[in-house]
Amino acid sequence: MAQQSSSSSSSSVMMVELDDGFSLDGSESGWVEARIHCDHLASLSSDLLHIPTPDTPCHRCQHPNENWLCLCCKDVLCSRFVNKHMLEHYQQTNHNLALSYSDLSVWCFSCDAYLDAQVMQPLRAAYETAYILKFGSAPPFRAIELVQTVGTEANASTGN
Ligand SMILES: [Zn+2]
Ligand SMILES: [Zn+2]
Ligand SMILES: [Zn+2]
Repeated sequence: MAQQSSSSSSSSVMMVELDDGFSLDGSESGWVEARIHCDHLASLSSDLLHIPTPDTPCHRCQHPNENWLCLCCKDVLCSRFVNKHMLEHYQQTNHNLALSYSDLSVWCFSCDAYLDAQVMQPLRAAYETAYILKFGSAPPFRAIELVQTVGTEANASTGN
């Protein structure tokens, strides 16, 4: 017979609740869209062209795959669904930007949101490098907001 006191045990571990940051754009739907703006890019590593390979194990627990890359110090740590080492890393260092080697999404802990690394210039080097390391070729480019900056090469042979 189970004897239950009224005090609920404190040892239940739930998934991390993300309960702030939702009010910013007023959307309460469960759908999480990647942001294209983030105020926390100052701590990004200045060299994101040289990053560990996607099969790098977690530096703390050696979890072998689907880890996260800290985009501030390039440490590789496991996800909140494994041993939360990337989350701990953020809490200890305030390194708030991480790239998932699982799906190459970029998460900002301070925004509590995914960032669109293909659109945000400072993140694109990391995204592209990780993509090449993971898949062996450059990512297919989405044609977003890049249109304005290209076009100078196109008229090389037409003369003027
Ligand atoms: Zn942010
Ligand atoms: Zn770990
Ligand atoms: Zn870091």
